[in-house]
Amino acid sequence: MALTPLIDPFGRRIEYLRLSVTDRCDLRCSYCLPKGFKGFTEPKHWLNFAEIERIVAAFAGFGVQRVRLTGGEPLTRRGIVELASRLAAIPGISDLSLSTNGTQLEALAQSLARAGVRRVNVSLDSLDPMIFRQLTGGELERVLRGIEAAQAAGLEPIRINTVVMVGINDTEVEPLLDYCAARGLTLRLIEPMPMGQTGQAALRASGTLEGVRRRLEQRFNLIPDLLPGGGPARYYRLASTQTRIGFITPLSQHFCATCNRVRLSAEGRLYLCLGHEHSYPLGEIIRTGISDEMLKEHLLQAIASKPERHQFNTQPQQIVRFMALTGG
Ligand code: SAM
Repeated sequence: MALTPLIDPFGRRIEYLRLSVTDRCDLRCSYCLPKGFKGFTEPKHWLNFAEIERIVAAFAGFGVQRVRLTGGEPLTRRGIVELASRLAAIPGISDLSLSTNGTQLEALAQSLARAGVRRVNVSLDSLDPMIFRQLTGGELERVLRGIEAAQAAGLEPIRINTVVMVGINDTEVEPLLDYCAARGLTLRLIEPMPMGQTGQAALRASGTLEGVRRRLEQRFNLIPDLLPGGGPARYYRLASTQTRIGFITPLSQHFCATCNRVRLSAEGRLYLCLGHEHSYPLGEIIRTGISDEMLKEHLLQAIASKPERHQFNTQPQQIVRFMALTGG
């Protein structure tokens, strides 16, 4: 029987759930969480695995096949491998993926792959250990070992996500491109988004990716390309190679018209748009003991409130929550 799709008021089909399993992170990327940040949610308020499973199954009942584990740093959530295997087993979920900073991948990549995670995005903002430490507070070598472990575990494709801040790490783009080309990885460059004070400061200091793109266009012949996955990146292939580079440019070229996703926070708030503070309290609602039928009604109601687009350009101060609190 054909499943009823989730269609928002602007005719967009919602087919992708980003699932934040914690807002905590073992790194402090300068554009994401402030140093010394103490405002995390309490783990006792987080959705437990049964609650997450139930919500994901309800989405799957509407034909949502793709789920991405994210955070905060999802691999710091205790029992993450068990959660992955429970989600991968939900009928209809065919694409379980992960966004990670890579610090725990060396230890967990094999088990995650066995649990049913198919592919990973790893955040990596620099290949220079000093710049990496300044930007994230972490140890570069550990992340690089994590990426190797993910490749050895057969996770495929692996995409490297780099938030590019002009004047801080934009000179890292070419070394990162060489690194990815040598390993068959895809590099994606992300514009800083004005999420919370950290993101707003990063955007003010850096600006958009337009200049970086023009620089790359002068050096490489970039041929527009498509990659499966339905994400927001615009991809190019470097002529005469199999190397691909993606640009995620919510400010200079926004992609709201094709937005196909919603985000569930660790506490069970469903964010319909990264660029709006509005959220739907799904976690609270399921804790009132509602039936599966009612849960489906609530999902429909939530999707009916999805905004048309973000206002990052016109109202960059609007979003007070940091990216880690939503599940970027
Ligand atoms: N910890 C995981 C990771 O590092 O990928 C998942 C969560 S992290 C919040 C998801 C992505 O959001 C990372 O690639 C991170 O660099 C990006 N991010 C965080 N704050 C951002 C901001 N203000 N603008 C753009 N990207 C941001």
